[in-house]
Amino acid sequence: MTELDYYEILEVNKSCSSGELKKSYRKLAMKYHPDRNPDDKEAEEKFKLVNEAYQVLSNEEKRTIYDRYGKAGLEGHGMGGGFGSANMDDIMDIFNSMFGGAAGGFGSGFGRAARQDPGQKYALDFEVELPLAFHEAVFGCQKTIDTFYKTPCKECHGTGAKDGKLETCDYCGGQGQVIMRQGPMTFAQTCPKCHGRGQKIAQACASCQGKGYHEEKDSVTISIPAGVDNGNRLRVQGRGNEGKNKRRGDLYVTFLVEEDEHFMRHGNDVYIEVPVFFTQAILGETITIPALQGELELELKQSTKDKEQFVFEGEGIADVHSGRKGRLVAQVRMVLPKKINTKQKELLEELQDSFGIESRPHKTAFESTFDKIRSWFKS
Ligand SMILES: [Zn+2]
Ligand SMILES: [Zn+2]
Repeated sequence: MTELDYYEILEVNKSCSSGELKKSYRKLAMKYHPDRNPDDKEAEEKFKLVNEAYQVLSNEEKRTIYDRYGKAGLEGHGMGGGFGSANMDDIMDIFNSMFGGAAGGFGSGFGRAARQDPGQKYALDFEVELPLAFHEAVFGCQKTIDTFYKTPCKECHGTGAKDGKLETCDYCGGQGQVIMRQGPMTFAQTCPKCHGRGQKIAQACASCQGKGYHEEKDSVTISIPAGVDNGNRLRVQGRGNEGKNKRRGDLYVTFLVEEDEHFMRHGNDVYIEVPVFFTQAILGETITIPALQGELELELKQSTKDKEQFVFEGEGIADVHSGRKGRLVAQVRMVLPKKINTKQKELLEELQDSFGIESRPHKTAFESTFDKIRSWFKS
């Protein structure tokens, strides 16, 4: 990764006032805020950088040191990389304390979703998929899920190295970056061997085989609200992986809802196909159809058409947030007899005749067309 200057990161010039700095910081922090860019790693990195840059430049002493000695100067003065070890929670706390209510709805919820501690070997949040039957999603339910969460290996303090001993990475000389040259240009790239850590394991920890963590079994019971849909995600706070600070990240449960044999879901509406025999459709009849809450009476009027829809308001699925119910839409599927016997044939012919000209709609429909086509060939 090419290292940008803090001033470049904040898109200001070196002589900018603290007011200009704050204004620009605010604009950029909002732009890359995790709530606006869920699951966007690049935006998260930018958000972290912007915060890091502002932490330094907004502090007069740090800014002076940075101007004179650069980033290395800050480290030399015991001010650390600042954010090198900070996690997303800390950054969010700083961001929120800075803008408070002015951030308007930001700073809660999904900011935490992409949280990852850079000093951490694994993400603190993780996701599991939970299959749900159609009715479980529609009506809500309680589920107990077994998970495995990661916890830092005590033997090696999460380093993965025997007795916690790390060596300087020989590939990058401990810089965490390697310089690539291409023609007149040079690029700084994260060291592929140590992944930017600058250190490598001398000897793998026997307890965790160098992984740096162990897996613990966990059992989580969650209440699933009525109306959840396929792909919806539920956050279970504090049931993710355990960090070095003993705090656990969050567990995300993504629902995989099974399809039902008869009901088809579309948002909060539910569709059901109702087979109707052609005589029922013509004569009209009140029939009983299945509904989410039991049964419904469907009044087929005389001459109901194929694919005709009947809507039952409030018989659909409860909205997961408002609880307001959607519609149940019953759609007619016209069924014709596969075979007819002699008796039925006679009856149908009699019926056909009784309709007279109405029973031959193609004749009236095409009458003028036949004449027109004939006229095309008249010489
Ligand atoms: Zn390295
Ligand atoms: Zn270990």
